[in-house]
Amino acid sequence: MTKLRLAIIGAGPAGIYAADNLLKAERKFDVSIDLFERLPAPYGLVRYGVAPDHPRIKGIITALRDVLDRGDIRIFGNVEFGTDLTLDDLREHYHAVIFATGAVRDSPLPIPGADAIGSFGAGDFVSWYDGHPDVPREWPLEAASVAVVGNGNVALDVSRMLAKHVEDLLPTEIPPNVHDGLAASKVTDVHVFGRRGPAQVKFTPLELRELGELRDVDMVLYDEDFDYDEASKEAIATNKQVMVIDRILQSWRQRPSANGAGGEASRRLHLHFYAKPLQVRTDAEGRAIAFVYERTRPDGQGGVVGTGEVREVPVQAVYRAIGYFGSPLPGIPFDKRHGVVPNREGQVLRKESNEHVPGVYATGWVKRGPVGLIGHTKSDAMETVRHVINDQASWWNPAHPEEESIRQLLAERGVAWTDLDGWHRLDAHEIALGEPHERARIKVVPRDEMVRISRGE
Ligand SMILES: Cc1cc2nc3c(=O)[nH]c(=O)nc-3n(C[C@H](O)[C@H](O)[C@H](O)COP(=O)(O)OP(=O)(O)OC[C@H]3O[C@@H](n4cnc5c(N)ncnc54)[C@H](O)[C@@H]3O)c2cc1C
Repeated sequence: MTKLRLAIIGAGPAGIYAADNLLKAERKFDVSIDLFERLPAPYGLVRYGVAPDHPRIKGIITALRDVLDRGDIRIFGNVEFGTDLTLDDLREHYHAVIFATGAVRDSPLPIPGADAIGSFGAGDFVSWYDGHPDVPREWPLEAASVAVVGNGNVALDVSRMLAKHVEDLLPTEIPPNVHDGLAASKVTDVHVFGRRGPAQVKFTPLELRELGELRDVDMVLYDEDFDYDEASKEAIATNKQVMVIDRILQSWRQRPSANGAGGEASRRLHLHFYAKPLQVRTDAEGRAIAFVYERTRPDGQGGVVGTGEVREVPVQAVYRAIGYFGSPLPGIPFDKRHGVVPNREGQVLRKESNEHVPGVYATGWVKRGPVGLIGHTKSDAMETVRHVINDQASWWNPAHPEEESIRQLLAERGVAWTDLDGWHRLDAHEIALGEPHERARIKVVPRDEMVRISRGE
């Protein structure tokens, strides 16, 4: 019986679900899967994106770990495609590859001052508070007043993490450098800006509701944003999610602190709608000093148009949470405009001809862009895997499909890879670090320390 040797690049949910799907799928051949991950720890954005105060979502890791623990997938951590392994290497050792490398670069905000000192991509901040090994350990939190641009769940995460008091994050897995950074934060006001109205936000109700439950944080809303047009009224009447969101916002408007006066909390979270970013105003040293925006109004069809009225709010930091982008992969077609690998249902396509590149597949956020929840990567993986199975005739013909050969190659190149046992060691180490403090775990951040613990060195 033929045996498919498959490489999967990226051990986030998409890569792990793809491996699981293929192993469980009906097929006429055996499979042997190697999962390569750039980081010494698996789980992608579930470990390094989902906010630490969302333990229920972080708990998806348990299901992903169960897949890996079955033992029928080999994992090679601390191995980067493009540096440690190339497409030619994969062709020599595998019949096909699935790229599941995600999309973690922040989309740019094309306005003057976007590169000011104090202007940050939300993704970088998320990586910092989630203890990603490849970002600096320190994060400047000197700003008293902060702008967060965006009306999606990442904007909510970032705003919540900025506004929340650090004591309330203590039960989570945040590492000591993140705790100390947040404890020193001078923030008093977080201003969230969205271009459209309350009935057009991309927040999900559960995540929005959380903002209003933060201790010692007042929600501030502005009456002028709630003079709904017909399209908004229609959306609220016909779409359950929009209806719930409106209900949450209206309940906050009833609070005595809702207009910014009368509140007693030491921090405030302001929601500004109908605000189109125009500029980050800077001082002579290039530091952010204000967020400048144009007031918009509904265009009657769920969109907005500018009113010409320019306003500004003094802030010392700006976080843009307006979307994510995939990174190009050496030798693989890439759609720069959308930040994804061009594909048809996961079959990677040549850009010029739209023909399938034999043996090359994509799944997850690098396949369909940074939209959707972790659960969506499961159905997505099924679609890609179906094509891998059906395309048997066009798989590569590797010279060295033996399982041992890839280990030899990595060893010859001096790559210090980590494996499943190594992940177990690191996992146990992090859990043990948390125990004396009655915390579920405390993350290890430096990459060399993660590798050393994993490899038992
Ligand atoms: C800030 C934030 C918060 C979120 N919160 C939630 C939430 O609460 N609930 C929810 O359902 N969804 C949430 N999501 C969405 C969820 O994280 C994604 O749907 C999901 O992680 C996408 O999975 P993926 O496997 O495609 O990508 P990723 O999770 O990004 O995994 C990709 C993996 O590939 C690896 N990789 C990248 N390049 C290479 C390379 N060259 N070589 C080897 N490995 C590589 C990466 O290190 C990473 O481990 C959130 C997303 C973000 C950004």
